[in-house]
Amino acid sequence: MVYDVVIIGAGVAGLAAAMNLPKSKKVLIINKNHPWECNTFYAQGGVVTAINDEDEISLIQDTMEAGAGLCNEHAVRVLSEHSAQVVGNLIERGFEFDKNKEGELHYTKEAAHSASRILHAGGDATGRYLHHFLLEQNPHPMLEGAQVTDLLIDEGQCYGVCVNYNDEQKHIFSKSVVIASGGLGSLFSFHTNASKISGDLQGICLEKNIELERMEMLQFHPTVYVSSHAAQKQLLTEALRGEGAQLVGENNYAFMKDYDDRMELAPRDIVSRAIFDYKQRTGEEVYLSFNNFEEEYFNNRFPNIAANLRGIGYDLPKDRVPISPAFHYAIGGIKTNLDGEIKGVDNLYAIGEVASTGVHGANRLASNSLLEGLVFASRAAQKIKDKSVTYVPKEFPISTDSLRCEDDKLYKGQLRRIMWDDVGIVRTQRGLKEALNFIEDTLSKPIGRFLKLRLLTAKEIVKSALKRKVSVGVHYMSEDS
Ligand SMILES: Cc1cc2nc3c(=O)[nH]c(=O)nc-3n(C[C@H](O)[C@H](O)[C@H](O)COP(=O)(O)OP(=O)(O)OC[C@H]3O[C@@H](n4cnc5c(N)ncnc54)[C@H](O)[C@@H]3O)c2cc1C
Repeated sequence: MVYDVVIIGAGVAGLAAAMNLPKSKKVLIINKNHPWECNTFYAQGGVVTAINDEDEISLIQDTMEAGAGLCNEHAVRVLSEHSAQVVGNLIERGFEFDKNKEGELHYTKEAAHSASRILHAGGDATGRYLHHFLLEQNPHPMLEGAQVTDLLIDEGQCYGVCVNYNDEQKHIFSKSVVIASGGLGSLFSFHTNASKISGDLQGICLEKNIELERMEMLQFHPTVYVSSHAAQKQLLTEALRGEGAQLVGENNYAFMKDYDDRMELAPRDIVSRAIFDYKQRTGEEVYLSFNNFEEEYFNNRFPNIAANLRGIGYDLPKDRVPISPAFHYAIGGIKTNLDGEIKGVDNLYAIGEVASTGVHGANRLASNSLLEGLVFASRAAQKIKDKSVTYVPKEFPISTDSLRCEDDKLYKGQLRRIMWDDVGIVRTQRGLKEALNFIEDTLSKPIGRFLKLRLLTAKEIVKSALKRKVSVGVHYMSEDS
């Protein structure tokens, strides 16, 4: 059997592409784990939308400014100009964003936005609500628990994917393949991502000589409760700071005024580095304080954060919560055009966090990524519908490489620590070189394919970071000490 479209990933990008492909097409969505084990499910703050024509221009300006001069302006225009359309389409289909007391859409503000233009759902559970809604809208079958281990590519054409399903490798053939496999949080000791998001497809693309770009641009979220055991940490959404939460030291000193005039609403990289620096300089713990909130409002507006933290002993908004930055979002990725197409491989597309259209430049504006998923998925789906593909079946051998080896777990842990220590918020040439040595050394050992893909992705991040000698946006280089 040959599918019309195989979509790798069931987050916002994959499901939005599926929603825009008619039931008459043979579409299969593949995802690695349970469908909710994706970053989309965990998104809290909301979805950006330009509130009127004038705001389209401001959104472009804010996105470009956050991107520190490295954004692809055309991509940013497309994102902003399509925002009202894709968000309107969700509402028309029945998705309910939160409303104010007057029954109008409630727009909130996050860091580096010049206007309140972020819509949210379930208070602070936008991702969960949106994901559930997109799953309900999805007209196509889904193969859960299938991990893509390879792309079937020959002479510049993609023919399908190889998956590991029930511990067996099998090929799934398709006229078009859409990569919507998200970011790479699991490469770091501390991150906010779903646990299975580990940059597999970025690694596969590197093996196939497909171009990845801006891999050094990694966004660290400033306010994460990191004192839990799992690598995946509880995020404290930017909207909290947007609505008055403050960063304080041990004596409740609100230190952001010493770092940036925008204080808590400075872009994420600035806030992350300020926290890093304040901790290092003073040796103090840093907290998020909710003193400015009235209790009833807080519990209605941020019900899930209040409940999650109550579960670990914090009574919000009375208590302050210790926080630290953690890895959050991969800005770079598989290079695509604005229809998701990948140069050099016909019928292969990438959308969402795994892709790089250049829309985020050197730093992503808060809440632009759910929007990115919606906009570029709908454009890729349109491209696929418009294109006629002649498919001549082709044989591909099934690989006999081991997927896992005995010491993989050990190396995986070491990789995470090295990425956190040396490829994190503040980088040095020496640290990056050490990370590269470790990765190359590990790649030369007997390891399984899953680990190899992580290492290839990590290697590309480090190589890109080494190439960019000057600090810009989220990429911050310090002198070797
Ligand atoms: C805690 C948190 C809060 C956030 N808050 C916001 C917010 O408020 N607003 C905003 O705009 N953005 C937010 N973001 C970012 C945003 O959620 C993500 O960038 C976006 O959801 C990514 O969507 P995606 O569809 O590209 O990937 P994901 O939603 O991560 O989905 C990836 C899919 O790919 C599948 N997959 C991966 N590898 C394989 C493989 N090898 N084989 C098969 N399947 C595979 C996974 O199983 C999954 O289904 C947040 C992110 C996090 C982690």
